Amino acid sequence: MAAIEARDLIKSFRGTSVLKGVSLNIADGEFVSLVGPSGCGKTTLLRILAGLELQDAGEVSIAGRVVDDLEPKARDVAMVFQSYALYPHLTVAENIAVPLVMRRLTTAGRLPVLGGLMPHVRRARKGIAGEVATVARTLEIEHLLDRKPGQLSGGQRQRVAVARAMVREPKAFLMDEPLSNLDAKLRTQMRAEISQLHRRLGATFVYVTHDQAEAMTMSDRIAVMMGGELLQFGTPDEIYAEPVDIRVAEFIGSPRINVLEARSDGQGAASAGPIAFSLANAKPQGEVVRVAFRPEAAELAAPDTGLAGRVEHTENFGSDLFVHVRAEGAAAPVIVRSRPQGRRAQIGDHVGIKVAPDRLMAFGGDHKR
Ligand code: ATP
Repeated sequence: MAAIEARDLIKSFRGTSVLKGVSLNIADGEFVSLVGPSGCGKTTLLRILAGLELQDAGEVSIAGRVVDDLEPKARDVAMVFQSYALYPHLTVAENIAVPLVMRRLTTAGRLPVLGGLMPHVRRARKGIAGEVATVARTLEIEHLLDRKPGQLSGGQRQRVAVARAMVREPKAFLMDEPLSNLDAKLRTQMRAEISQLHRRLGATFVYVTHDQAEAMTMSDRIAVMMGGELLQFGTPDEIYAEPVDIRVAEFIGSPRINVLEARSDGQGAASAGPIAFSLANAKPQGEVVRVAFRPEAAELAAPDTGLAGRVEHTENFGSDLFVHVRAEGAAAPVIVRSRPQGRRAQIGDHVGIKVAPDRLMAFGGDHKR
């Protein structure tokens, strides 16, 4: 069992509040991503879970046990960082063996001083070669075992870093943007590999990324953070289709969600130009409400239908075509996914936009639905 529980975590750095009371329950074996813009506190939260940083208040439990007094290595979790932190003068096999050698030296009652560790790593290699070979096979890096990190590609180094984390058979993997140094194609490939690894190991994964697409494709659940607060914690589908906060709606999804400003009539309805909608929770009259809809919730229509505007730009992804329309009263272009069988549009065309009423989401001045 390696459920991870954070309760009311508070953390400041030199008077600046970075975590403002974050609580999170991660189930055993779950893949959870922490996402949010730069500086929202996701790395700090991960480091607190790992024991690399101490919270000012709140509690962390791993596998049902409060670990606040435990050193990082006693928490039985493995960290994988963005910079792979491999030892450049050791081979891949020796790098993977480091945690095993450390463990043997600590259980033998000897203090592992890093400078004095290297001869042990070299000597111990034979004894632990079997364990190293097993993880190397899992990650398909057996042919690289005799190389030095300098002779590896970014993706290979990343795999070695994961192998080094795996060899300890930790209860949980904590990963901090492990793919951010890779090129786009390799990132996509490594995403799939990490997901497969998670399924195979059945271990708990906590994964920090600022890339919402990465979080959407890999996670069982996503924790969206902003300004030191947890805004929403849910499955990718929930976060995408039922955001509870406009900041979540705007952070998740590519292309972005469309947002229009409207004013509440105080009677449970509001209108943004020609689009009128009812509000799930009545807002006071005159309150500015923001109405949001995803590009696929709208379609192009005859110029006198719904929102009217002029096509400013088109984005062709091959599988999808997104049309950007400069519509009256909208601060930013409205993005519409064009359907293959639907109306065609060229830059400069005047078009209408029809939005499915049941796909409109309204958010109040407090950002909430
Ligand atoms: P990024 O995606 O840029 O890594 P993040 O969401 O992971 O961002 P954190 O690294 O948790 O954010 O940092 C949150 C805030 O805390 C930032 O404003 C950062 O400058 C600050 N911070 C983090 N670590 C320290 C530290 N050791 N001392 C002072 N301030 C820190």
